[in-house]
Amino acid sequence: MLYVERSALQSHLAQNLIKRNIHFELVDSCQEVPDTKKDMVLKSHIENFCRACPATSHYRCCNYWTADVMEGCPFDCAYCVLQAYLPHKNIQVNADSERFITSLNELIKSGEKRRIGTGELSDSLALDELFPFSQIIAPLINAQDILQFEFKTKSDRIGHLLNLNPKNVIVSWSLNPPEIAERWELGAANPLKRIAAAKKCADAGYKVAFHFDPVIYYNGWELGYASLLKTLFDNIKGSSVEYVSISAFRAASRLLAGIRLRQAAPTFLNEDIILGLDRKYRYFRGIRLKLLGFIYKTIKKEWENVFLYFCMEHSSFWERFAGFDPISRVGLEERFPHYNAF
Ligand code: SF4
Repeated sequence: MLYVERSALQSHLAQNLIKRNIHFELVDSCQEVPDTKKDMVLKSHIENFCRACPATSHYRCCNYWTADVMEGCPFDCAYCVLQAYLPHKNIQVNADSERFITSLNELIKSGEKRRIGTGELSDSLALDELFPFSQIIAPLINAQDILQFEFKTKSDRIGHLLNLNPKNVIVSWSLNPPEIAERWELGAANPLKRIAAAKKCADAGYKVAFHFDPVIYYNGWELGYASLLKTLFDNIKGSSVEYVSISAFRAASRLLAGIRLRQAAPTFLNEDIILGLDRKYRYFRGIRLKLLGFIYKTIKKEWENVFLYFCMEHSSFWERFAGFDPISRVGLEERFPHYNAF
């Protein structure tokens, strides 16, 4: 069910719903909205739109920035960090798109190159048909060269993007083999549909990106990821790819406890899991080496010049597979193509 806070009724996004005859109920506060993934509310109160990703200690991070236009996601991935991070299950959409544009403009005026995206506290495109943030964001981003904006998704809802200038906008997909997605990424598009959507974006001139995150260890993982990668290579040329991230499953203790309480407790937790230096549980190092090494090497073989990075992984993985250690957040950030574009 869709709700709109009374104080958000005059916003561009609420008026857009009215114009399209989309039914919603008015509420005085988002606190009145039922707390399920099926309920969403357009609300007027916001804390802060743009902020640096909190990252993690001890492991290498990339200095990403997040644009929090909404909190919550209609999909239901068993490993999703939002289960532990957000105090609500429902989807809360920030109505003040003008203030959001102001926040982006302030970042642009700072003159510091950044990568930023809406995929941290939600899926960037899952609700784009209802709340067309892509149409608000892309024209602004494409009129400057300081920010590179990423729409990160597990959906195939790219309809709005195909009519927009692709200049500084990256569209990215998180990928796992179909057998993992079917069981543990409920409601998300089949990975083969995600790749088909990526092909359409690449054909329309977008640079695309992929996130193998979290990589899941399961019986038959090597065949599963090999087949997924083959489909990816058959459809997408390396020259269309801006970057690829790779990282194995990890979870802070609160998230791990939440995952274990799910109705069907995921079998991917049956493997050896250790407590990492950042107090997050991860697969035992030997398993991570196998998983990440296989994906890294397979991609490098086919897409030799594509920038690959490990998200929140130990420096020794960098040294072993990439041949260097980026050392700091800035050291990793500066290696992204956006920083070397001009
Ligand atoms: S698509 Fe992303 S944000 Fe949505 S449930 Fe899955 S992991 Fe969480």
